Amino acid sequence: MSLTLYVDGDRFRTHLRTTLARHPDLVPVAKGNGYGLGNSRLAQIAAWLGVDTLAVGTYAELAQVADHFPGSMLVLTPWRPFDNEVPGGIAPRVVHTVGRIEDLTALLAWEPDARIVLERETSMLRHGLSAAGLREAAEIIAGHGDVRLEGVALHLPMAGSSHLTEVTRLMNDVVASGLDTHTVWVSHLTDTELATLAGSWPDYTIRPRVGTGLWLGDRGALKVRATVLDVHPVERGDVFGYRGRHAPRPGTILVVSGGTAHGIGLESPTGGSSLKERAATVARGGLDAAGFVRSPYSIGGKQRLFAEPPHMQASMLFLPHGAPVPEVGDEVDVRVRYTATAFDRIDIS
Ligand SMILES: *Cc1c(COP(=O)(O)O)cnc(C)c1O
Repeated sequence: MSLTLYVDGDRFRTHLRTTLARHPDLVPVAKGNGYGLGNSRLAQIAAWLGVDTLAVGTYAELAQVADHFPGSMLVLTPWRPFDNEVPGGIAPRVVHTVGRIEDLTALLAWEPDARIVLERETSMLRHGLSAAGLREAAEIIAGHGDVRLEGVALHLPMAGSSHLTEVTRLMNDVVASGLDTHTVWVSHLTDTELATLAGSWPDYTIRPRVGTGLWLGDRGALKVRATVLDVHPVERGDVFGYRGRHAPRPGTILVVSGGTAHGIGLESPTGGSSLKERAATVARGGLDAAGFVRSPYSIGGKQRLFAEPPHMQASMLFLPHGAPVPEVGDEVDVRVRYTATAFDRIDIS
């Protein structure tokens, strides 16, 4: 009855180990839906990998990992006076990201021996201190003997040909700030960029924070399958679905597991709905002449059409006459966005 993520355990674990062997200072990221695997499970895997630090996205996510991972937990979202709740007993293991001077002073007033990473703003313009802000932070920290500065963070955009020019400039800011740290936490650098950085700044420890490339880096280790829940042969004109549509031609209505609650959505076939756009979409196979939209489900090696928009936990597909028809209980392949899918079951071999 379920939408299942099948993980080839050997292959998955091999990828994790080789990634970590290439980057021994890597910090796995567990956030959101846990990249489809769930944050608690990722925390267990991180413990098994033996890393010293696990990053989570938000303070709320600490509770999902704290019981499963024994090491330090870096919160990627910067500390704010209104969003910083740490579950009881784990404060010594939490590393806060700080991106504003007022937050630094507020945090230190509240937790003088806090473990902190200062974020330097990058071209992302998401969070972080300016170069002058880093210098100011250095002065504040120098006046607070108990605070534990664990590094500076750089969160780089994903796009762009190379981050190196920007990173070099930011690294110069870090050095010039006078901050007493030799650790830089980075995001979204390629292996080549990391190697160049390590070569240029040999006295710094570069700690890449990696989610997608770690957990989802070997897609061949992952398969998603839905279950066929019902099969209804239809003739042209037969009525089906919530909207009482008529089958445009003979075929089969297939009810499969997976719906909006799982994150199964319409494959967005077109940005607009003008006749011309629609014709272009029809030509690409995204929308058929009867108005059916392409689904992420594959049967017989072909991506099939939704008979109507996905329901909450199931979806209706239309198989044209002549297509192979699976049986109730069979599984079919589905293409999903792992970071936006809630699986009913995860099966790790
Ligand atoms: C989510 C996140 C990452 C990990 O991103 P991936 O693209 O999944 O590797 C790294 N750094 C920060 C600050 C993040 O928010």
